[in-house]
Amino acid sequence: MPAPKERKWDELKGWKELAEISPGAIVPGVPTSPEYLTGDWRVERPIWDEDKCTHCLLCWVFCPEDAIMLNISEDGKVVKMIGIDYDYCKGCGICVRACPPKIHALEMAPEEV
Ligand code: SF4
Ligand code: SF4
Repeated sequence: MPAPKERKWDELKGWKELAEISPGAIVPGVPTSPEYLTGDWRVERPIWDEDKCTHCLLCWVFCPEDAIMLNISEDGKVVKMIGIDYDYCKGCGICVRACPPKIHALEMAPEEV
């Protein structure tokens, strides 16, 4: 088996030289993430029980889609959960895991087709 070719680090191009050759990846029209409604990936959806919720916001911290909707007071001091944005909720269930078990204000249910 041939020995791996030794890399000559001082011969490699740096990022400035590479940028002169090619602009790299171009993402047109940013930001684009609001256009991608990840809600249609869902096969299950989290159901929120407002009466049980203590507004600890752990679900908001862990939601990868920023789909936990909040209401923030004008002075910015009171933040409450007000629901789930099903346009973006992809049904991963992380919020359900994050909600304290003693509170159990979220649970997954089958998506109705
Ligand atoms: S199921 Fe996933 S994407 Fe949907 S609200 Fe919970 S954490 Fe966010
Ligand atoms: S983690 Fe549970 S208790 Fe905390 S804000 Fe979310 S739903 Fe409410």
